[in-house]
Amino acid sequence: MMKKTAIKKGAVYTIDLTKIDGDGAFPCPKCGVTISPDDESDEIYEILDTVVAGTTLAELVLQCKRCRSIIRLVGFLQLEV
Ligand SMILES: [Zn+2]
Repeated sequence: MMKKTAIKKGAVYTIDLTKIDGDGAFPCPKCGVTISPDDESDEIYEILDTVVAGTTLAELVLQCKRCRSIIRLVGFLQLEV
């Protein structure tokens, strides 16, 4: 798979969506800024990569724009019950 954006070395955090309450927003594990999936302004975070399993979104790779941490969002599959 091609990477459109070069991922610099640094901290990589994994967030399990099944462990998040509410609308899916969560604080950045490093700097604490609130990252909301509904925020499409591109000011807080940037989507680096999406991983799809079949037709279902399996994983989303984000980068926090404040602290540059890489955050892997997993648990999408379990949400589709
Ligand atoms: Zn951050």
